[in-house]
Parts: sequence; C-alpha cells; structure tokens
Amino acid sequence: DRLVIAIDGPSGSGKSSTSREMARRLGLAYLDTGAMYRAVAVAFLDAGVDPADTDAVIAATTGADIELSLDPDESWVRVNGRDVTAEIREPRTSAVVSTVARIPQCRADLVARQRALMDAAPSGVVAEGRDITTVVYPDADVRLLLTASEEARLARRGTELGGRLSASELRDQVLRRDRDDSALVEFQTAADGVLLLDTSDLTFDQVVEAILTLVKE
Ligand code: C5P
Repeated sequence: DRLVIAIDGPSGSGKSSTSREMARRLGLAYLDTGAMYRAVAVAFLDAGVDPADTDAVIAATTGADIELSLDPDESWVRVNGRDVTAEIREPRTSAVVSTVARIPQCRADLVARQRALMDAAPSGVVAEGRDITTVVYPDADVRLLLTASEEARLARRGTELGGRLSASELRDQVLRRDRDDSALVEFQTAADGVLLLDTSDLTFDQVVEAILTLVKE
C-alpha cells in the first residue's frame, strides 16, 4: 500500500529536516515543494524578469522546466537544465520567492506538478510545504502542521544558515517571509483533520518519534 504524508509549517518549524528523515525511515520519496517555488524564483531572476510584471512571472513559471531529487539521501534541483541546488537557498532568492507564491496562476501550475510527482512515487511520499495538507494533497494518509515559537524558529534558521547572518538580519528575513507568506497558511491553527504539533521544546529525534507514532496508528 502507498503511504502519503503531508507536512506543512513555517520556516524554522523543523519540517524539512524531519520530513526528509521520515522519508528515509519509511522508505518513501521526499518532496520539498518550497524548492520548486525557489527554483522558479531563480528562473525569473535568470531571465531578468521584473518581479512586478505578473504576466512575465506567470510565463516564467509555467515555462520553467523543474527537475528535483525525490531521494531523501540526495538533494539537487535543476531549472531549465541548470543546477541551482545552492542558488535556491541564497538570500536574493528567498527575498523574491513570495512573489511567485502570491500569484494564483503560479500556485496552480506548481500544485498540479506537485500532485503529479506525488502520485508517481511508487511506495508513497513525504511532501512538505505550506499548503500540502490543505490544497495539494488533502487526501494524504497523515496530515500534520508543525509549529514552533518565533524564538525556536529563529534559532533553527540561524543554525541552518551556519551563522552567516547577524541576529537582526536573521530576524528581518524570517519575520519578513512570515509576513509575505501569511496569506498561505494560518500557522497556529490546523485545518480540519490536520494534526498540530508544536516543536518548540522538542528535539529533532523527539519530533521524528512523535510523527512515526502517528504514522503507525
Ligand atoms: O519551504 P521554503 O521556506 O523553502 O519555501 C520557500 C517559499 O516558497 C515560502 O516562503 C513560500 O513563499 C513558498 N511556498 C509556498 N507553498 C509551498 C511551499 C513553499 O507558497 N507549498
């Protein structure tokens, strides 16, 4: 039987690292949907598209050839044939990614691709993002919203970025993206049938164990 696990949450909630680990432990594919929004952002920056030109952003999105690894042990992303694995994490990409996320036509295009990738995974998939439990795959076997206090999220993002940003830069970045993304998900309340897990005071292993217990139920 196929198993589909949908995990949503804001930046720094621990969703990426725990989703990847869940996929490893359960032998499932892993889909990072944020990487697809980021890849599109790189594609339109590459093409010199003005972020304010909505039609051009839509065209860059629907025309983008996005390939990404579904293997939890291997992480790479290509857009229009170019490897952008590192570039999608750069601050200039993070700064414009919400432009893509806010345009309904861009979302519709990416959501359709995400569903197709999820349906094609032979034994199933762990997919993570902002709207997986609600829009992309509301029929998932397990639906989970991870939350964490602002303090815990800032600390995790800081560790992920390896101290490359000052505390105030980090704070600006994380809080700005929260604000930009605020229409996408109501971070503190889960939709009907979605389980809420506050990870603020949990270690990585504790979060993984908690989700594994839910999956077995
Ligand atoms: O998860 P990550 O932080 O890499 O996502 C980058 C951005 O992509 C988010 O800030 C959000 O704007 C957008 N996104 C989205 N829907 C998703 C995943 C990501 O709108 N399912």
